[in-house]
Amino acid sequence: MPLLEVTNLKKIYTTRFGGNKVQALSNVNFSVEKGEFCVIVGASGAGKTTILNILGGMDTLTNGQVFLDGQEISNYDKKQLTSYRRFDIGFVFQSYNLIQGMTAVENVAMPLMFRRVSRKKREEAAREMLKQVGLGERMDHRPNEMSGGQQQRVGIARAFVTNPEVVFADEPTGNLDTKTTKEVMEMFLRFAREKGTTIILVTHDRSLAEYCDRIVTISDGRIISNEDHRHAKAIQDPPAAPAEELPEKLHFTDNTLAAGQGGV
Ligand code: ADP
Repeated sequence: MPLLEVTNLKKIYTTRFGGNKVQALSNVNFSVEKGEFCVIVGASGAGKTTILNILGGMDTLTNGQVFLDGQEISNYDKKQLTSYRRFDIGFVFQSYNLIQGMTAVENVAMPLMFRRVSRKKREEAAREMLKQVGLGERMDHRPNEMSGGQQQRVGIARAFVTNPEVVFADEPTGNLDTKTTKEVMEMFLRFAREKGTTIILVTHDRSLAEYCDRIVTISDGRIISNEDHRHAKAIQDPPAAPAEELPEKLHFTDNTLAAGQGGV
């Protein structure tokens, strides 16, 4: 069973003034497996943010269904949606959305407050997560004391600190240079592999697809292709160490390759 399943999704916006109708999504169908890194690519206005807002329980749909782990989230009431947003998912934004008056640790610890985790444990988890995103030296810095790339790492740490089922990312590299973009994309891929988190990232930048397991292309509110790159990607990725340096007991099987773990 896929972790996330979207069936016949349709979204019509009615503009506030004049009551014009805009069909933002029509008959969108796709599914994503647990631990998959999925990118949804499309030009501006294609419907990417609309999909993400609906999957993230922040907007309603006009027709269709969205399932997470077999639960129909498109049927959730307000209370269930609040719980879904707090416990099941994480979000990474293009403009980071950090709280300026708080340090990196305080920003990352924030989502754990809703989980009634003690202050000490929240801080420990946030510090550990910041180390995992390579910000061990910047824990007590405020956002305006950090570069864009560092702020986005804090944003990523905040999304993953609760160990959610799914992390949604809306153009997370939109404000970053090429080198930092690569680092951020590799970080998402590493977390998908290490933590088994499902990641759904939307972007207009097709070159980001090379990091992902599934590439869903959307145009004018419709899916025009859905490519499964898991197997192809695992074969392309060389193991981190040369084969002769690996311990003998490590053998690559089709399964380890297909799982994209590269065996090392
Ligand atoms: P993308 O994220 O791919 O740029 P969006 O999901 O933001 O695209 O928008 C898809 C379409 O829906 C566009 O035609 C956009 O103008 C329209 N749209 C988005 N939000 C609204 C809204 N609140 N009211 C009316 N139309 C909207």
